[in-house]
Amino acid sequence: MSKNGQITNPPTENLVIVGSGPAGYTAAIYASRANLKPILITGFQKGGIPGGQLMTTTFVENFPGFPDGVMGPELMDLMKSQALRWGTQLIEEDAEELQLRRRPFLVKTNETLIKTNSIIIATGASANKLGLKNEDIYWSRGISACAICDGATPQFREEELAVVGGGDSACEEAFYLTKYATKVHLIVRSKELRASKAMADRVLNSQNISIHWNSEVSDLYGSNWLEAIQLKDLISKKEQELKVKGLFYAIGHTPNTDLITNQLNLDSSGYLITEAGRPETSIDGVYAAGDVSDWEWRQGITAAAAGCKAALAAERWLTENNLIQIIPRDKVEPEKVFKSEPIEITDINSFNLNAPYQRGEYALRKLYHESSKPLLVIYTSTNCGPCHVLKPQIRRVLDELNGEAQGVEIDIELSPEIAKQAGINGTPTVQLFKSKNLIKQWKGVKQRSVYVEAIKQNSYKKS
Ligand code: NDP
Repeated sequence: MSKNGQITNPPTENLVIVGSGPAGYTAAIYASRANLKPILITGFQKGGIPGGQLMTTTFVENFPGFPDGVMGPELMDLMKSQALRWGTQLIEEDAEELQLRRRPFLVKTNETLIKTNSIIIATGASANKLGLKNEDIYWSRGISACAICDGATPQFREEELAVVGGGDSACEEAFYLTKYATKVHLIVRSKELRASKAMADRVLNSQNISIHWNSEVSDLYGSNWLEAIQLKDLISKKEQELKVKGLFYAIGHTPNTDLITNQLNLDSSGYLITEAGRPETSIDGVYAAGDVSDWEWRQGITAAAAGCKAALAAERWLTENNLIQIIPRDKVEPEKVFKSEPIEITDINSFNLNAPYQRGEYALRKLYHESSKPLLVIYTSTNCGPCHVLKPQIRRVLDELNGEAQGVEIDIELSPEIAKQAGINGTPTVQLFKSKNLIKQWKGVKQRSVYVEAIKQNSYKKS
């Protein structure tokens, strides 16, 4: 072992899959069923959240097998469970470096070094920004790249909001925000929507969405929070101010290829080049799957199909080159997936001063006043994909700390007043309290070690 705990000479694996969207998980399902025991690096902060773009969407109504639609995060949870059931090994970190000019290939995360004979790159694409002058000032203070995650926050309720973009994401987000806003402005830079007909019709027929065609956002104004945007008509060049408290970006994505720049062939837009319809890249044993190499179709189902092809191609290549190591599973027929029941909201009858994890306002009030332990308050909303990733992480943290700290989950849609008092402006947000004092706050999903460290620093056990 090296001093940071890395194994300096690890065994060589069959296959590492980088990325945890539909492409990555489908590749993992196929490769694990083929007894390759693949390792899947989920990604963490680089390139969006684990689970990919479907984690930030609501209903997916075009994925076959779900006649009534399925929530994007739920679909990803199902794919993940299926990959785990068949023996995929998950590493919940970012891949930091790939060395593809040597064999076996090397994959580094911040804690692990892996040698592997083949790799599938399924790193997807990340949300684009507009790059406006004051964007950084109002980021998370009115500007968001995920209406589904942040739309329910109190600051956006009963206010006018704007969405920029004209694709499926923009239309879905504009329609979703009508639940909360008095009016939604959709800002489209051309004179047409690029979204699917069904999605576009929903927007065009909504009384609460006003579309500004041939328009762009040229400036942002406000104080502590966004208060208005400057809108420019690209034909007449006239400008007008729109008083909106929220601006949601839905302007497409850029492929996540920073790990492979200068190692594999990319096209002029940064997409990984493969032969049309095939997963092979310019290096034998390295395959691409999903949006990282698909500028055209970019669907969950096409990404899943690409993941399937990449896994089959990797298996074939390992066999042809006598590199394959068949690793039989302990059980021929793995156990069925265990589905944990969602925990109930705690009330006066079910409250337990010592329980590690509870839900709702009642538990929050009681623990805040009566518990002497560090308290993590996790603010979530129903459709927030990153919340799906965070909640089990926090429960694992609390389990591992074995009673040293407690957690309480607050759904900001059920408890808007609490969210307002706590100054929550997006989900997930985690606050750490100790003796009624707010010690720390984190937005989004962090590595488990970040929460553990903060809790340990504030634990009585330490002193
Ligand atoms: P798209 O690339 O399809 O659309 C991006 C939109 O943003 C386009 O209208 C584009 O304009 C506009 N745009 C790009 N850059 C700018 C800019 N700088 N300023 C203003 N506008 C800009 O991205 P989406 O995220 O909407 O969709 C990606 C894929 O995911 C698609 O295949 C889509 O079908 C799928 N999807 C499916 C969903 C579902 O089934 N529930 C939900 C969301 C997405 P222009 O048209 O002029 O280029």
